[in-house]
Amino acid sequence: MTKFYSSLDEIKEELKRGKVTVEGLVKHYLERIKTYAHLNAFNEVFEQGALSRAKEVDARIRSGNAGKLAGLVVAIKDNICYKGHKVSASSKILDGFTSIYSSTIVERLLAEDAVIIGRCNCDEFAMGASNENSYYGAVKNYADHTRVPGGSSGGSAVAVQAGLCHAAIGTDTGGSVRQPASFCGTVGLKPTYGRISRHGIIAYASSFDQVGPITHSVEDAALLLEVMAGTDEFDSTVSQKPVPKYSAGVSKSISSGPKRIAYLQESLSSPGVDDEVKGVMIGYIDKLRADGHTVKPVAFEYLDYIVPTYYVLAMAEASSNLARYDGVHYGYRSPAATDLASTYKRSRSEGFGKEVKRRIMLGTFVLSAGYYDAYYAKAQKVRRLIKEKTDNLLEEFDFILTPTAPEPAFPIGRKEKDPVVMYLYDIFTVQASLAGVPAISLPAGVSEKGLPLGLQLLTKRFAEQDLLNFSKYFLKL
Ligand code: GLN
Repeated sequence: MTKFYSSLDEIKEELKRGKVTVEGLVKHYLERIKTYAHLNAFNEVFEQGALSRAKEVDARIRSGNAGKLAGLVVAIKDNICYKGHKVSASSKILDGFTSIYSSTIVERLLAEDAVIIGRCNCDEFAMGASNENSYYGAVKNYADHTRVPGGSSGGSAVAVQAGLCHAAIGTDTGGSVRQPASFCGTVGLKPTYGRISRHGIIAYASSFDQVGPITHSVEDAALLLEVMAGTDEFDSTVSQKPVPKYSAGVSKSISSGPKRIAYLQESLSSPGVDDEVKGVMIGYIDKLRADGHTVKPVAFEYLDYIVPTYYVLAMAEASSNLARYDGVHYGYRSPAATDLASTYKRSRSEGFGKEVKRRIMLGTFVLSAGYYDAYYAKAQKVRRLIKEKTDNLLEEFDFILTPTAPEPAFPIGRKEKDPVVMYLYDIFTVQASLAGVPAISLPAGVSEKGLPLGLQLLTKRFAEQDLLNFSKYFLKL
């Protein structure tokens, strides 16, 4: 068995006809994980656990009471807690730490009979856009091993891209599901803020963090969203809104009536956007127009402010969230510590990587007395303006279309030296994060060098069903 399954339905079909078993699938993926170990996509593979769960799921399939995800072999980003399993956020400071409870999303995946095959490499504490900021080393893009897979959920995206599992779960604070999905030719969905519980997810910036699926198909993204979404007594920011049967909605939807679509004119005019990316945008705009949709360029007057606003707020929240890693409560404690103060200082200095330290210091600065109003409070106000402007646009249009990233996957090491260059890379993904609206990255072909290219669609809060239905249609254009 060497082929990639395009959707879970295809796997379920083969399971039904007895062509494969879940145990056989797990063995197949374990084999591929070994063959492609040099991609560095996994921080740990749960070999024995996955095999024994697969046998249990096979038994449930035989007895006719298996869950919706029976047959799904999924990987989770290493910032998602799974009881009894290690979790590190790819940081030395959590090296050796074991989750004492499972995140809500892990419980929901397991309750529907998914098999979790391992935890995937990522940027340390999900801070980055290339997966180069990991204590466990960079992840390589399967399409070109000299290039990054994107980040921060780079390991999760490569695991799907290289067929090391069928789907993966990432987290997206400012683009970390969508951008690696686009670099790796997969579908990546960031739901509305508050659609999926954050309970048991290692916090980076709590007013932005959302869990999202990375998949080969829109149908699988819909099913995973349906399973993971919904109210949770452990996370009061989760919406009480009922969860639609997204997967049934997507499979019923066949075509799309005429839609109103806006695209950011800067995505075609800015010199910072790669020509091949512009070419793909133009190609899709033409196809959409030819198919009867209204597609119009719009100017987003706050475009220059979205990256600085995101970074001021995300770093402020990170500096507060990461205060808990003090050498006492979790993971790493410096062996050179002699008293309480040196335990804090040395454990944090030795345990955190360079980028995480930079963000904690900047975040502490923007929150400090005397600077709070100038930076943190100001950024909050700008965030509200960005949200309002985005909401207004989404009143006028059904979707906003942008490239997911300004360029395809770049060479490992190229951008690492200048953090600001890397931050600017998030220009198209952070708008949805600041506004809290859902957004999806869809594979849109490959560059001349064979590198995957992705386009992004944004829509109104909690309109995931429309977004998924339209995405299914979009991929067939
Ligand atoms: N690249 C962005 C950052 O470094 C987004 C990361 C994320 O979504 N976790 O903050």
